[in-house]
Amino acid sequence: MAEIQPLVAGNWKMNGTQESLGEIRAMCERAARIGARPHLMICPPATLISRVKGLVAASPIQVGAQDCHTAERGAHTGDISAEMLKDAGASAVIVGHSERRGDHGESDALVRAKALAAHRAGLIAIICIGETEGQRRYELTLPVLGRQVRASVPESATAANTIIAYEPVWAIGTGLTPTTDDVAEAHAFIRQTLAEHLGEEAAGGMRILYGGSVKPANAAELMSVANVNGALVGGASLKAEDFFGIVAAYGSA
Ligand code: PEP
Repeated sequence: MAEIQPLVAGNWKMNGTQESLGEIRAMCERAARIGARPHLMICPPATLISRVKGLVAASPIQVGAQDCHTAERGAHTGDISAEMLKDAGASAVIVGHSERRGDHGESDALVRAKALAAHRAGLIAIICIGETEGQRRYELTLPVLGRQVRASVPESATAANTIIAYEPVWAIGTGLTPTTDDVAEAHAFIRQTLAEHLGEEAAGGMRILYGGSVKPANAAELMSVANVNGALVGGASLKAEDFFGIVAAYGSA
């Protein structure tokens, strides 16, 4: 099995206007100085995808989107299709982020349909899963992750078109993180469940990112955990300095 290339992806959420593009320029300068490891991606709001794509054209930074509709086109006011995101310059799209599952009541079935839409458009689907604080308290973390993997990840997913992001909901934006033992247990369980669901080959090469309060100060510890193939970063991806402080966990920033 080939070594898995780690990915550090930044999710800007509903943050960023044209004024923020200076951070993208700064990221391009930093990216030019590092070698091939790890892969880098920024997922700006949809309004900035094409501007960001223009700025990163000569850099290794890839551009992702934060959500997509399941349909290719049609009467869905305010929604954006995966094909439109691809057209704007995205190469990936996050689906099933806990803020979408929570704020918009997105089910596993809808997340699965969105992942299939991403694949249809030729985008990598970054499928987010993770337990809530209450589920963790009742020791339901692994059952919840198992259900989310089986119901949110299409059976046709491959290591090339799909990335899993394990994001404990209670760790997102809170400054709290699980212990490295907990992260190791969750990631090993996710990989095992993927193997049962997709087969050993797809599961063995699939990137499983950790997300939830990753910062420069804790990145090296979290990124060194077995089966952690990079990070999905929220708040700390808004500034080039912080984002590359995390990338430095791979010894190359
Ligand atoms: C996220 O929203 O995907 C995330 C991980 O946020 P933060 O890094 O801010 O916790």
